[in-house]
Amino acid sequence: MALSPCRNSAPAGSLRSSVVRLERPLSMGSATKQAAAAAATAVSPHARSKSTSAMPLLRRSSSATRFRDDAEGRVRVAVRLRPRNAEELVADADFGDYVELMPELKRLKLRKNNWDSETFQFDEVLTETASQKRVYEVVAKPVVESVLEGYNGTVMAYGQTGTGKTFTLGRLGKEDTADRGIMVRAMEDILADVSSEQDAVTVSYLQLYMETVQDLLAPEKDNISIGEDPKTGDVSLPGVTLYEVRDQKSFVELLQIGEANRFAANTKLNTESSRSHAILLVNVKKTVKPKQDRELAALNENVSTLQLSKGHKIPMVRKSKLIIVDLAGSERVHKSGSEGHTLEEAKYINLSLTALGKCINALAENSPHVPIRDSKLTRLLRDSFGGTARTSLLITIGPSPRHRGETTSTILFGQRAMRVENMVKLREEFDYKSLCRKLETEVDRLIVENERQSQAVLDTEEEMERKIQEAQQSVIEAENKLTKALEESAAERSHLQKEHAETVHKLEQERALRETLEKELKDSIQNLHCQREKQMQSERARYHKELEDYKQRHQQVETELNKRLEMECSQKDALEKKLKEAEYLMEQKGKNEIMLLASQCKELSFLKEKAEKELQDLKSKTSLMTKQLEEENVGLLEKVDSLGHELEEQSKQNKHLEYEVKNLKQKLLQLSFEADETRKSLDREPARISVGSDSPLMNSHKPLQMHESPNSQRATIAKLFEQVGLHKILSLLDSPDMDVRVHALKVVANLASEEANQKKIVEVGGLKSLLDLLQSSEDETIRRVAAGAVANLAMNETNQELIMAQGGIRLLAIAGSDAEDPQTLRMVAGALANLCGNDKLQSKLSKEGGIKALLAMGQCRHNDVLAQVARGLANFAKCESRAVARGNKRERSLLIDDGALPWIVSNANSEAPTVRRHLELALCHLAQHVNARDLIDANALSELLRISTEGSREDIRSLASRTLGASAIFQPK
Ligand code: ADP
Ligand code: MG
Repeated sequence: MALSPCRNSAPAGSLRSSVVRLERPLSMGSATKQAAAAAATAVSPHARSKSTSAMPLLRRSSSATRFRDDAEGRVRVAVRLRPRNAEELVADADFGDYVELMPELKRLKLRKNNWDSETFQFDEVLTETASQKRVYEVVAKPVVESVLEGYNGTVMAYGQTGTGKTFTLGRLGKEDTADRGIMVRAMEDILADVSSEQDAVTVSYLQLYMETVQDLLAPEKDNISIGEDPKTGDVSLPGVTLYEVRDQKSFVELLQIGEANRFAANTKLNTESSRSHAILLVNVKKTVKPKQDRELAALNENVSTLQLSKGHKIPMVRKSKLIIVDLAGSERVHKSGSEGHTLEEAKYINLSLTALGKCINALAENSPHVPIRDSKLTRLLRDSFGGTARTSLLITIGPSPRHRGETTSTILFGQRAMRVENMVKLREEFDYKSLCRKLETEVDRLIVENERQSQAVLDTEEEMERKIQEAQQSVIEAENKLTKALEESAAERSHLQKEHAETVHKLEQERALRETLEKELKDSIQNLHCQREKQMQSERARYHKELEDYKQRHQQVETELNKRLEMECSQKDALEKKLKEAEYLMEQKGKNEIMLLASQCKELSFLKEKAEKELQDLKSKTSLMTKQLEEENVGLLEKVDSLGHELEEQSKQNKHLEYEVKNLKQKLLQLSFEADETRKSLDREPARISVGSDSPLMNSHKPLQMHESPNSQRATIAKLFEQVGLHKILSLLDSPDMDVRVHALKVVANLASEEANQKKIVEVGGLKSLLDLLQSSEDETIRRVAAGAVANLAMNETNQELIMAQGGIRLLAIAGSDAEDPQTLRMVAGALANLCGNDKLQSKLSKEGGIKALLAMGQCRHNDVLAQVARGLANFAKCESRAVARGNKRERSLLIDDGALPWIVSNANSEAPTVRRHLELALCHLAQHVNARDLIDANALSELLRISTEGSREDIRSLASRTLGASAIFQPK
């Protein structure tokens, strides 16, 4: 017996939103029904897994796990004993146990009396302590699983009223979840297994009483007819309400509604629920994954031709049904009519249950006739007993010996039912409807997609066209750019080549310069050496000569003294002789004469004594002088010795200097090697040559340099500066060797041309050393280079103040007046010109004679010198005009005070463009209102007019015009 779902017509609004009312009947139309019949299969899962070849339509099931092999296909029967209730505990206290259970052996013993008992074997024996969960798992779960696999299933409770049928099947477990009965638990398992999107679970709840079927979910439908498919024999209930269940809560609500309606109906009919059968129908529709082509072909060759292209396989659907039946109390069979019903009534009340018993008897005894059509219950349960469903029957019994008769007959019913064989059948069919729906959706999707793609193709074409145009445009642009870039790169390349050639040339120059320097250095060292030697030799010779002179003088004095001594001696001898002669005369000439002679004699002797004394003195003097000479001699010898020592010291120092020179030479060699390397790399990479930048310092004046110094030389000097150190270089400024001093000074001057070095040079006292050299050096070269270095330092405002503070103006003025070489003048004038550009130092500069010194140098006719003088005056005039413009100065120009105006006027039209430009500027700046009168007096007006029209530069011309226009004094009267 297979129940087909019926057209529903239940009233709307009776259920919650989660319960979906089906608008379309689930029963199939005739056309699809035939196709389904053709495709319907009943395949046991076991058989399918084993073989894919042709399969029988009907096969005994082996899938239900809890069915023993011998119970396969057979109706499975379990017995449950209800525990004693309060009444029985009292009433049956004196009686022994009538029912004895042996659950391990699945046996039940009915004790007839003390010595006689009967034992029955069941599929399951559930004691009074068995939990609801265990009962569900043992009795219903295998059937539920089987339903989910595509087989019909039935769970049914049979037993005397009050033995627990409703307790076992219909408990909702609202108060205690452990009480949940089979209906609730079965739905839980079903909902957990199905997919909410693809599958469908629908529920109907019916009551069968007095051979009338009533819809418990729509109680107004109280006479629902039973239809049967003549071909398949499947039973349907047209008109019954079908609710789609999506969740457990709505199902429980449905059960509650059904229970309430059952109670109301029974009250109305004045019956008890135990006299009616409650039937819950659960339809499960499950989509199965499409089978493989081969498998499908094996199933039905005709069907395989229906396979569609593009991989569309016909979906399979399983439509199975679970029927849970809470039967009326079994005692009614025997006690019919005992409760005041008419015979007719009693006949109908018991008809269905009696018919069920008869059918089961017939099936159990394999009788050829089974009276299925005798009652509505047997018609409804056609598939459950002897049909294709998997059926599980629960026999409920009470413990009371007072109902032994009922209990025994119930047990015997169960025993007979155990012998009923079913042939389970898989309810699987092709789901053409859903396939059709899918295909329609797919076709619609493809149409939409197609339209979209056509549009996209059009769009893409348009886009492509636009892109092609853009690309063409950008190609043209790129070509233009390329041509331009090629031109530019050619220009750049020639520029670089030029630069490269220049750099190579400069490097060559530098190398020549270095070689000259080296040679100069070498020569100067040799000269120094020779000079020293000569000097020493001449000194030594001089000392020797002096010594010789001394000795000669000494000898001369000695001879002289000896001569005088001899003379004295001979005088003495002559006197003695005279005396003797006198004595003789005395004797000869008388006494007077003797007296005279005696006095003469006395005189003579006195003279003699004096002479002797003088002689003595002379002798002592001689010895003293000899002694002195000896001492002097010793001193001279000592001096000679010390000179020898000094000489040694000097030669040592020379050696040291030579060593240092050697070191410097090595460094120079290293630098030259590096320079060569640089040149080589420059040869290789002309693009890397950097162009030197002008000094950013005032009035675009380039630093004064001793030679035309290329960047590379500056770099070399910077390297030297790094390696040797500024202290060392500055210390060489004091070197006794003139050449070394000059070279060191040149290095300092060159370093001073770099702004980065200026601060360091000043910090380590370089400025002071330079000013000292300017003041004290006898040598003009040194003064020239020192002035150049000072000029370079004077480019910086802080240094200008320092130079002024250290008396720089005076020193520069002296250096200028002492200079003979125009280059020296150029350096000095350059330094002063730089100082002239400082706004703060104007009056001091004038006061200390800076302007006058410049004007004095202006007498030199050398253009380089004149250019610096002119620049200085222009700087000064510019600062003054700035001060006037700012209102900081109101009195006459200091330049005019210092008498610069005539010089400026007379040189303003110089042939040398630099001189001319500077002086034109100077004149323009001087032509302030405060100086206007002086300018007119100095005949500068005509010069200014000339400048306004023929000035050397456009800006100067316009400046002159402006200045002329600014003062009323200049205007023609
Ligand atoms: P039936 O439906 O067979 O007439 P019921 O299910 O209505 O019987 O049960 C009758 C009474 O016995 C109820 O009060 C029920 O709660 C109780 N009962 C039935 N079975 C059990 C059981 N296994 N454990 C406890 N009480 C039970
Ligand atoms: Mg009941």
